[in-house]
Amino acid sequence: MEFSLSAEQKALQQQARSFAQKELAEVGREIEATNEPLSKEWKRRLGEMGFLGINVDQAYGGLGLGSLEALLVLEEFAKVHPAVAFPIFESCVGPVKAIERFGSDSLKRRILPSVCRGEAVVAVAMSEPNAGSALTDLTTSATIEGSSIVLAGTKRWSSGGGHADGYLVYCRLSEAPGAKGIGAVYVEKDLPGLSFGAREMLMGFRGVHSADIFLDGVEVPADNLVVPAGGFGKLMEAFDLERCGNATMCLGIASAALEDTLAYTQERRQFGKPLVDFQAVQLKIAEMAMQVEAARLLVHRAVSRAEGGFPSVADSSIAKCFANEMVRQVTGHAVQLMGGYGYSKAYPAEQRFRDAWGWGIAGGSIDIQKVNIAAALVGRRFNQRAQ
Ligand SMILES: Cc1cc2nc3c(=O)[nH]c(=O)nc-3n(C[C@H](O)[C@H](O)[C@H](O)COP(=O)(O)OP(=O)(O)OC[C@H]3O[C@@H](n4cnc5c(N)ncnc54)[C@H](O)[C@@H]3O)c2cc1C
Repeated sequence: MEFSLSAEQKALQQQARSFAQKELAEVGREIEATNEPLSKEWKRRLGEMGFLGINVDQAYGGLGLGSLEALLVLEEFAKVHPAVAFPIFESCVGPVKAIERFGSDSLKRRILPSVCRGEAVVAVAMSEPNAGSALTDLTTSATIEGSSIVLAGTKRWSSGGGHADGYLVYCRLSEAPGAKGIGAVYVEKDLPGLSFGAREMLMGFRGVHSADIFLDGVEVPADNLVVPAGGFGKLMEAFDLERCGNATMCLGIASAALEDTLAYTQERRQFGKPLVDFQAVQLKIAEMAMQVEAARLLVHRAVSRAEGGFPSVADSSIAKCFANEMVRQVTGHAVQLMGGYGYSKAYPAEQRFRDAWGWGIAGGSIDIQKVNIAAALVGRRFNQRAQ
């Protein structure tokens, strides 16, 4: 069992850390203030540095490295601000990886190089007003008509909704009920019949747009079919990697909260000595560190033993679920240990606490992950619909 990173992985991690800390810290603060996503110029810069295709095949403009390398970089960016990390999340662990694995060569050539160059962002549109945890209740339809596919329906909560250049839309491609009829189609932003609702105002996730997506007879070429009906299992395989990305965003947020807390409690004095000299503070810091380290091990284990690129549902759900709970606790402790400054918008602790909460809902809620874990342990799915 190997617990240390290779020299190349450490160098990549260091490169990402110093770039993100030096160049993007101020950008993250601006995003937090304005709620606007990372600019096009910055995305191009990330593309030039290779950060938007770390684990994407070189044939499509990526670096061709592994998912662990992608997650090492993602964590460093997430430490600075989730919104500066978001394009890396979407391109290296999100819908782009599903397109890379399951799309046609011509579709991949149309989309992936521009994503890797930072010229296009692809979001995933799975959830609907009446299909959240019960995702297989989704009703958005996609009908193949000759050389076209026509889509109709409403999507909700897509991160990047209204801002992204394209969407991997989970949809119903046949009459077959439940998961059996579901597949996915790539839909470009500016097509007739595609429109967006008002921008959602969320508790956190500033700089990541979210809006309803209305598909009213949107027509795309048949080549945009990524996964046909019956391929829901494939989509979920790709989603196992997205879960590890979600867990890594938590890891970045939590490790930054820990670093800030360590610095603050050594500097701030009360009763004539630094806060860190109080044993109750030491215990809290130790608990934070233990949780962060454990989450990192679970995430790295999940991607390290992934077969064929995608981790198992059990490994990825355990990593996500643990990291989702961990980041809420760690950022909560950070706010508390920084006292009034923890609660003030002058410091990033409160922002991290707000962002932390969202990851335990996005990508499947914490309790749904726990149901997945139990199902993997007993070797069968539990029917959530049985009365
Ligand atoms: C910040 C954020 C980003 C998101 N980004 C995206 C995105 O990019 N693309 C996208 O498609 N969607 C996205 N989502 C949507 C997300 O996937 C859903 O919100 C999530 O799956 C939960 O669905 P829901 O909100 O409908 O809640 P519901 O399904 O209504 O669940 C509400 C509560 O009930 C619990 N619950 C439901 N069913 C069960 C059950 N069987 N057993 C036990 N408990 C249960 C849940 O755990 C949850 O706590 C995002 C959401 C958030 C908050």
